[in-house]
Amino acid sequence: MEYDPTPSHHEEDRPGPGVADDRRGGGWRIFGFPLQIDPWFFLTAWLIGGRQEPLWMVVWVLVVVVGILAHELGHAFVGRKLGMEPWIRLFAFGGMTGWSRPRPLSSGQQILISIAGPAVGIAIGGSVLVAAQAGLLVGASPAVAHVLRDILWVNLGWGILNLLPILPLDGGHIAASVATILLGAKGRIGARVLSVVLTVAIGLWALTAGQWWIMVLGVVLTVSNVQALRAEMAQ
Ligand SMILES: [Zn+2]
Repeated sequence: MEYDPTPSHHEEDRPGPGVADDRRGGGWRIFGFPLQIDPWFFLTAWLIGGRQEPLWMVVWVLVVVVGILAHELGHAFVGRKLGMEPWIRLFAFGGMTGWSRPRPLSSGQQILISIAGPAVGIAIGGSVLVAAQAGLLVGASPAVAHVLRDILWVNLGWGILNLLPILPLDGGHIAASVATILLGAKGRIGARVLSVVLTVAIGLWALTAGQWWIMVLGVVLTVSNVQALRAEMAQ
């Protein structure tokens, strides 16, 4: 979902390098990147899977783990290419890629890192969609079709959702970088205001539609963006 765009933000709202080192505690690595998975991640993945038979729930959770890891790996590989040392964490509401040794990045480089995550998901989900449209999946067994449907929804859904211009989603980082290129330092505040407007709108819509999960998410994101906005305006 998110990544740590600049060293300054590393200190502000992300674990610092020392903490990141502690998080390596489990000692898991994927393609050389330190990986930590919070137990809450599995619970949330299970809950958003809805009511299915236990076997299909396990398949769903596996597809979510692989899909979100693939997304974070997109950020991590581009970050490594740009000379950073990425680590990956999966937590209750998604994934995060951060840097053990951050260094300043240009807005263009930040946009590249931001786009890489959703691009992986859209490529994976898009491949399934294209294969289905081309008739390649005709005759597939119901079980295979079920797994492919899960892969399609998780990867394409997560990819597109993350492109919404709301911080700390990837689309929010892209909006902030583009606004910084266009408006300078004030651009970041503009992106933050856009995040607040959109999260309030989504929260209000969810309230009227009875979508409680989305409403909670809207409230959490609104509060965090208002706090960040106040901190950025005070600077
Ligand atoms: Zn992301």
